Amino acid sequence: MADSKRDYYEVLGVSRDADDAALKKAYRTLAKKYHPDSNPGDEVAAEKFKEASEAYSVLSDPQKRSQYDQFGHAAFDGTGGAGGFDFSNMDMGDIFGDFFGDIFGGARKRNYNGPMKGQNVHTTVRVSFEQAVFGVNKDIEINLKEPCQNCNGSGAKPGTQPKTCTRCNGTGQVTYTQQSLFGVVRNVATCPDCKGTGKIIPEKCPKCAGSGYIQNRKRIQVAVPAGIDSGQSIRIREKGEPGINGGQRGDLLVEVAVAPHPIFKRQGENIYSTVAIDYADAVLGGMIKIPTVDGDVEQEIKPGTQPDTKIRLRGKGVPLLKNRAQRGDHYVNIAIKVPTRLNDEQKEALKAFDDAMKGNPGPKKKKGFFG
Ligand SMILES: [Zn+2]
Ligand SMILES: [Zn+2]
Repeated sequence: MADSKRDYYEVLGVSRDADDAALKKAYRTLAKKYHPDSNPGDEVAAEKFKEASEAYSVLSDPQKRSQYDQFGHAAFDGTGGAGGFDFSNMDMGDIFGDFFGDIFGGARKRNYNGPMKGQNVHTTVRVSFEQAVFGVNKDIEINLKEPCQNCNGSGAKPGTQPKTCTRCNGTGQVTYTQQSLFGVVRNVATCPDCKGTGKIIPEKCPKCAGSGYIQNRKRIQVAVPAGIDSGQSIRIREKGEPGINGGQRGDLLVEVAVAPHPIFKRQGENIYSTVAIDYADAVLGGMIKIPTVDGDVEQEIKPGTQPDTKIRLRGKGVPLLKNRAQRGDHYVNIAIKVPTRLNDEQKEALKAFDDAMKGNPGPKKKKGFFG
């Protein structure tokens, strides 16, 4: 009997050195796929669910896992090793808490009769590099669900009434007990007939098709704060999905996507760029222009400035989100321009310079570049 059983690691599709997180992930994936709720009446799925649950219950317990690693299935078949299964120590909340939440959209934890906050809605706003640095007000368009005026949000055709769901008696949830390897498990799930609303609508409102809501295209202004960076979100309260039973609306979460800049790079509150200066300026020193988010800055450079010299422009970086009066710095990397095309006069001057550097006399004393 023990021999006909599949290897637990194989069942979960993990390697023998898989850690707890990998085991849990593998089990959750399988459990979701084969859970009886998702596969009503499917015996094969039920068997797979059972198999995966058994494998997980053993491998997630360090003691049982080490017995299994040593003795295989024989460790638990009663002829040796540790004897039968004991699932009493399995952390059911840990597995099934999140697990049902995933399947039923978190519905399990809700109180159906009380007000529930609506779901949050996610969207994205694109801003330029400078807009992210200094902040901007952006108009975005979203589809906002609002109660249908035609049926006052009931979903029922005007003149008709929604009926209480008979399957769940209006509670929106059904409980069922399941004989499983864990013993008798009592599960709670969203009522499949009324989808958790507790009501059945015999005649649907034609305007909203019974949902009680219509989608309105709305333009809303998003205040993008100075200092925000790509991937950060702005929360706009109560612009998400409508609440249920008088609950407040969910929020709108607007994720910011910052466009790359042709010359500036950003890291946290600091800005980085490279400025190429003329060779003569590098050698002789002088004033150069450095583009910053505040416009060009005149900056003195020392004679003999080397390539890759770093210049720090204090306070020319990105404002801090928490305090926009405080700003990061702008770091400039100096590069030296090497001219690619020279006319004869320039070539001669450069040669004369080169000769002078090497201690050779110049070809002709002519008033030129260095004259
Ligand atoms: Zn129901
Ligand atoms: Zn309606």
